[in-house]
Amino acid sequence: MADFSKPSMAELLHLRGNQLDKGEPIALPLVQSSMYHLPGLAENFPFYGRATNPTWDALEHALAHLERADCIAFPSGMAAISASLFATLKAGCKLLIPSDGYYVTRVLSSRFLSNLGVEVVERPSNAFEDGGFEGFDVVFVETPSNPGLDVVDLSSIAKQVRAAGGVSICDNTTLTPLGQQPLDLGIDIVVSSDTKSMGGHSDALMGHVASRNGDLLQAMEDWRRISGSIPGPQEAWLLHRGLESLDVRFERMCNSAELIAPRLAEHKAVQSIRFPGLQVDPSHNLAKSQQLRFGFLICFTLESEEKAERFINDCPYLRPATSFGGIHSSAERRARWGDDVDPAFVRLSIGCEPAEELWEALKTSLDQL
Ligand SMILES: *Cc1c(COP(=O)(O)O)cnc(C)c1O
Repeated sequence: MADFSKPSMAELLHLRGNQLDKGEPIALPLVQSSMYHLPGLAENFPFYGRATNPTWDALEHALAHLERADCIAFPSGMAAISASLFATLKAGCKLLIPSDGYYVTRVLSSRFLSNLGVEVVERPSNAFEDGGFEGFDVVFVETPSNPGLDVVDLSSIAKQVRAAGGVSICDNTTLTPLGQQPLDLGIDIVVSSDTKSMGGHSDALMGHVASRNGDLLQAMEDWRRISGSIPGPQEAWLLHRGLESLDVRFERMCNSAELIAPRLAEHKAVQSIRFPGLQVDPSHNLAKSQQLRFGFLICFTLESEEKAERFINDCPYLRPATSFGGIHSSAERRARWGDDVDPAFVRLSIGCEPAEELWEALKTSLDQL
C-alpha cells in the first residue's frame, strides 16, 4: 500500500485532554448558543453563532489532525462541496466533474452553477485524464468513485491541473483521511461527507473541507459565514464523538471487506464484482499506489433486480438503506436512484459486525437466491 504518514490516532484521542485546565470536563462540552457575552469591541472574541462556535472549533481541531491541514466544518457533505465550488468559481469559468460520481454533485453543477454562467464538462472516471486539463478553472474528482469504485490517479491529475493554472478538488468520502490523503498527493482542496464513516453511527449529517492553501480556506470560510451554511452544534458534537472511534471502526470495516470481497467473488450468485482490494480489479494497482486502505465498499451484480432486492431485504445483518459507512452493514440497488448501473448492481457497505458472523449471513442469503 501507499506509504504516507498516517496521523497519530493516540494523539487524536488526547488532543483535547492535553489542553485542559484543572477541573474541566474530559468529554467535549456541547455549546448551544447563538450569542456571546460581548461588552465593547468584539476584537478576537466569539461574537455570533453564525461565525463561530467552540464545539465547531474542537471538531475542526480533530479534523485538522486527521487531514494534517486546516479544516472547516459544514452541515453536510453537499454543503462542503457547495462551499468548495462557490468559493472557487465565477461566471465564465470552466468546471470538470466526473460523470459517474455522487449524483448530487452533478445536479448542483447542472441545476445551479450552469445558470450562473459556469461551463460544466463531465468525464467518466476511467478516462478522466483523456483530453487533459487545459482551460479548466476547477477540476473535481471522486476516488474511489461512488458507486462504481473506479480510481483516478490523484498526483497525476493534481500536477496537470496545477500546471494549467486550475484548482483541484477531491471528494474523499469513500476512504476518509485514514484511507487516503489527497492533499499529500498535491490536491488543493479535500471535501468529505462526514455523514458516512467519519460520523459512523447514521445519526447525523455533516461534512468538511480541508486545504493547505490559506486563500482557498479563507474563501470557503467566508462562504460559510455569509451563506449561513453552518453546522448545528449538536451535529458537530456527534461527529467529534464519532471521530474518536474512527480508527477502530475503519480498520474493522476495511479488514472485513478484504476478507469478504474475495469470497463474494467466488460465490456462484455473484456475476461481477468491484473492490479495489481484489488483485484482478482494474483499480487495484492505482489504489495500492495512492491509498492507505482499500475501503469498506464492495459493489457487485447479481442475476436480476428481483434477486438483488431479495438479497438486500432478507439478509438479517444488512440494513436496506441508502448512504453507507455506518457501524451496521447496509446495502442498496443504486439503479433505484437512476445511477447508470445494472438494475441488479448492489452497493454493499461493510460495517462493524464481526467478519465471520457477517459473512455467514451474507453467504446464507446468497445461497438461498
Ligand atoms: C453522500 C455523499 C455526498 C453527500 O453528502 P451528504 O452528507 O449526504 O450531503 C457527497 N459525496 C459522496 C461521495 C457521497 O457519498
